[in-house]
Amino acid sequence: MAKLKKSLLFRLTMLYAVTFTVLSTLGFTVFYYRIHSVTIERMDDELYDEAHVYETLMAEVGFDAVREEIFNQSKLEDPEEEFYRIFNYNGKVLTSTDMSTWGNVDMHETISELKKSDTGYAAKTIVLSESDRKARILTAPISPSTLIQIGESFEETEEYLEIFRNLLFVLITILIVIAVFSGWLLAKRALMDMSEVTRAAEDITNGNYERRVRINGRFMEIERLGATFNVMLDRIQNLLQSMQQINDNIAHDLRSPLARIRGIAEMTIVKDKSIDDYKEMAISTIEECDTLIDMINTMLDITESEAGVTAAKVESFDLTTLMTEACELFGPVAEEKDIQLDLDLPDALPFVGDKKRMQRIVTNLLENAIKYTPKNGTVVVSAANDSGKLNIDFKDTGIGISENDLPNIFNRFYRCDHSRAQGGVGLGLSLVKTYTESMRGNIRVKSVPNKGSVFSLSFSV
Ligand code: ADP
Repeated sequence: MAKLKKSLLFRLTMLYAVTFTVLSTLGFTVFYYRIHSVTIERMDDELYDEAHVYETLMAEVGFDAVREEIFNQSKLEDPEEEFYRIFNYNGKVLTSTDMSTWGNVDMHETISELKKSDTGYAAKTIVLSESDRKARILTAPISPSTLIQIGESFEETEEYLEIFRNLLFVLITILIVIAVFSGWLLAKRALMDMSEVTRAAEDITNGNYERRVRINGRFMEIERLGATFNVMLDRIQNLLQSMQQINDNIAHDLRSPLARIRGIAEMTIVKDKSIDDYKEMAISTIEECDTLIDMINTMLDITESEAGVTAAKVESFDLTTLMTEACELFGPVAEEKDIQLDLDLPDALPFVGDKKRMQRIVTNLLENAIKYTPKNGTVVVSAANDSGKLNIDFKDTGIGISENDLPNIFNRFYRCDHSRAQGGVGLGLSLVKTYTESMRGNIRVKSVPNKGSVFSLSFSV
């Protein structure tokens, strides 16, 4: 029972059935009482019409004619079914048909009721104490001093109303059965679509990542749930694929430096070396370890920024100063390759964002521009505020990037074939992109192989 109570199908069916039952019972009750009151109204009309006939007879012929007529009339009916009584306003009975089965039918109260009534008659339903029968009693004047009281048993009407009541009861019962069944059917159909979502989730849990919710468009809300679920699954699958790729890349990129460190260590054991050789090997090991540490730290920085664990700071600083300092730092490296490093910056370039992240963006792009530009080339760093947009360009006359490589260079660990000879792990541009986007900027690249590349950043200020 507890399990059943928890079932959505059961609850929806019950809700539907209860609502339907309450509403239809209410509807039928109102209908029944309306029929009941109309029946009584009609009965009163008939009795009043009859009283009116006696009133006319009284006015035109006289009391004796009325008395004769009511006795004639009473002979046609069973005395239990109908009675006639004529009395005056003091409650003195002038004549009456056989009322032995009617008990004590009130006159005085009726007289005062009649005085107040504006319909010209007083009518009420009584229950006869002896037989428990119901009857309608109508009292109306037939002359200024006399009243006629007609009583009519309700039995026939009651029988007819009872048939009607029974009919309604059967009808309500049938309707409730139909309501429960159709409620159950409706809920079942809706939940069938829901269970498709559940089944899809179960299949995915069991490793079938390709599985999607089959949408049949029967119910709008469930269709939306299924579509959203599928979009979520697509994203999860993409995420899993990119994590898989990252794992492969990490494994690959960790293996090389580790293999080199192992090689160095092996060489140390195999042969006797001079103290200088040992020092050199230690230096190589430190360098390899630095590469590894750098790689791991960059990976963590990218992941943290992408996951929003560390949000970009909001601080004001001058970009011209930041970029000039970065270029001064790379001056000696550029000089070593006879690369001309030009700066085209305004005197001041106020910026609001994360200073540390901006430093890493600028140094990475500058480092790449110098790294991938052969001897005697040129690197130009320019920045300008162009009506609400801050644009920064890193332009070089380097080896360029092929059309095939361009869409991939911002992926983690992606390195173009031609750059394998250079140091690096392929994380720089990925970090640049993540950091740029964390400050609501964007990065674009244009490149022509063997001619050069331009990396353009733009931020709204
Ligand atoms: P890396 O550590 O290899 O430099 P990056 O993520 O910084 O990694 O760059 C990814 C790849 O994009 C590089 O391996 C290189 O092939 C290409 N690349 C980046 N900047 C330039 C550039 N200025 N000119 C030519 N190729 C570039």
